[in-house]
Amino acid sequence: MGLYLVLLGVQGAGKGEQAKFIQTTYGIPQVSTGDLFRAMKTRTDDLARRIQETMAAGKLIDDATTNEVVRERLAMDDAKGGVILDGYPRTPAQAEWLEAHLREKGERVSAVILFKLDYYTAFKRAFGRVSDASGGTYNIYYNRDGIASDSMDAHPEKQFPPRLVVKLKSGETAIRRPDDADANAIIKRIDTFISTTAPLIEHYDAKGLLHAINADQPIEDVSSELKALIDSVRA
Ligand code: AMP
Repeated sequence: MGLYLVLLGVQGAGKGEQAKFIQTTYGIPQVSTGDLFRAMKTRTDDLARRIQETMAAGKLIDDATTNEVVRERLAMDDAKGGVILDGYPRTPAQAEWLEAHLREKGERVSAVILFKLDYYTAFKRAFGRVSDASGGTYNIYYNRDGIASDSMDAHPEKQFPPRLVVKLKSGETAIRRPDDADANAIIKRIDTFISTTAPLIEHYDAKGLLHAINADQPIEDVSSELKALIDSVRA
């Protein structure tokens, strides 16, 4: 039996970081549907263009297209021993499809791991996050070493939601990911998680597959909790 892990959690809960840890520890690849869709950017066919438009509008891609992309990815050689699903399934219909697809292959979802984080902390992790030119990361709420000052009234038109400008002690102005720059956009993503993805929590809980992890602790602590959990489902 392969190891098929589904990671659930609001953006900012640290799923991506922990997926890397699982990948190196257990040798199964991370499969992120968001990454797979972004990788289609260079294609010019109708389907790829529609996907880019849907993503740009902040909406979900339809289930049939998403499932097809996952089917192709799971058929690849490196996915034979299982995968870490990150950002998929995102709807109950996708979850049903995944279960049926794995059943056909004689496999099943091994565990669904919910990264629990309260939504205000999730907001602050995304909104407060900045980096320097060499990739060093900071957060105005959680990791101020290296930060000289921050201000929120620096938006050129003094519009709200506020934008943040962070000066580093090195003299550099910190860089922000464009999707973290706007407080409204972050709230919209949290709302989307609550309305479309949170029902999956109930779905998997009812099947006895759900395992919750407290994501509001240091990265290494989350990793060791995760390892204990994965080892217990593999045993
Ligand atoms: P992500 O990188 O996971 O935040 O995904 C970026 C975008 O890709 C989403 O906003 C959706 O437009 C699309 N996407 C990713 N995964 C899925 C999915 N499982 N179902 C539908 N759309 C998805």
